[in-house]
Amino acid sequence: MKKYTIISLGCPKNLVDSEIFAANAEAAGLQYTEDISQANFIIINTCGFIEDAKQESINTILAASQYKNSAEHPKLIVTGCLVKRYLPDLQKALPEVDHFVQLKDFSYFSQLLNSKNTNKRKLLTSNHYAYLRISDGCNNFCSYCAIPYIRGRLQSKPIPELVEEAKILAKQGVKELIITAQDTTLYGTDLYGEPKLVALLEKLEKIDGIEWIRLFYLHPAHITSAIIDKIASSPKILNYFEIPLQHINDEILLSMNRKVTRNRIEEIITEIRTKIPEAVIRTTFIVGYPGEDEAKYNELKEFILTNEFERIGVFTYSPEEGTPAYSKKTQIDSEIAETRKDEIMSLQQPISERILSHFVGKKMKVLIDGPATESNFILEGRSYLDGPEIDGKVLLTEGKAEAGEIVDVEIIDNWEYDLIGKIVK
Ligand code: SF4
Repeated sequence: MKKYTIISLGCPKNLVDSEIFAANAEAAGLQYTEDISQANFIIINTCGFIEDAKQESINTILAASQYKNSAEHPKLIVTGCLVKRYLPDLQKALPEVDHFVQLKDFSYFSQLLNSKNTNKRKLLTSNHYAYLRISDGCNNFCSYCAIPYIRGRLQSKPIPELVEEAKILAKQGVKELIITAQDTTLYGTDLYGEPKLVALLEKLEKIDGIEWIRLFYLHPAHITSAIIDKIASSPKILNYFEIPLQHINDEILLSMNRKVTRNRIEEIITEIRTKIPEAVIRTTFIVGYPGEDEAKYNELKEFILTNEFERIGVFTYSPEEGTPAYSKKTQIDSEIAETRKDEIMSLQQPISERILSHFVGKKMKVLIDGPATESNFILEGRSYLDGPEIDGKVLLTEGKAEAGEIVDVEIIDNWEYDLIGKIVK
């Protein structure tokens, strides 16, 4: 039987596309292999939204093309956001690619494999957690972001289709459903004329088998008390708020077209901390954005030190042609941006360690992911604090459990970003 492998780069939204490409490959009779040297078809789903991601995509294509001379003489198929953004340049620069498939063009892909296309998904995550992409595209047009020009305007998926998709995932053993989009808070405005995230969550939390619902990409400009109250009252929706703030200085927020002010951001944080004291706030910041002088950077630093977020990610501004920020005169030197990123991450480390130390001696629910990457003799899992791939984890030094089980764990120690615990069934 012929085999395929798929390399999915970028964000969870892109991973959902990869899962549909994988299902189409299997509909064509191909068998999945993780071993690229065994593959007859190598599929790369690229990311193309910032410089580092673009470079990683190119490097991955070049590395994969090395296998073309192997006994299998694999076909190299490249798709994704980089293709959407730069197809003509890629066609010239990368003759080793056999087929370029446009973003989400599943029917052309299945034609290449002489097969009929499907919208099913073959999960590429572990079988016990999966992403539910509730919409694609974005109407926000933040000044630094190329995504609306790659993925287009907001397209929400109808509630009944999402409920059906989630039910299929639950039947496949998915316990943790991770809600993703470019902006989950605006879900439904294009389809129903008003945001429908809460209405959707009310349907999803009724699905048997789904035990945890985690929300990603809550845009601060569109977070409402109704969303916070829904999270606060739901037994299944985790007290985990992934809110990309990007900055805190009002001039920068305005220049970024984030449609939110420092005041409103602080109101949201206060409302969350008041209504859900054990809430986890994960956020991301961009440093080195045009116009971010020393004073504005210090304001951001102070804000991070004062608010003590459980989880943060920091990116350096990446000038992207075609975005409004690209032509701004007040560009910041990339070395300064790198220094600022490193400084904030070094300030965050002791904050994270102190926050995690508060869990020592406490009991928590942990979803087992499997043997730890550090050692096969211990297990690892995630608590409500940990989104997959982006946050920390819980290392389990005692007790047995299967991947996909949600177990009670007593926390006995912590590191900067991870907790250590023992299973107490
Ligand atoms: S919300 Fe802003 S940063 Fe996020 S995808 Fe939309 S335009 Fe880009």
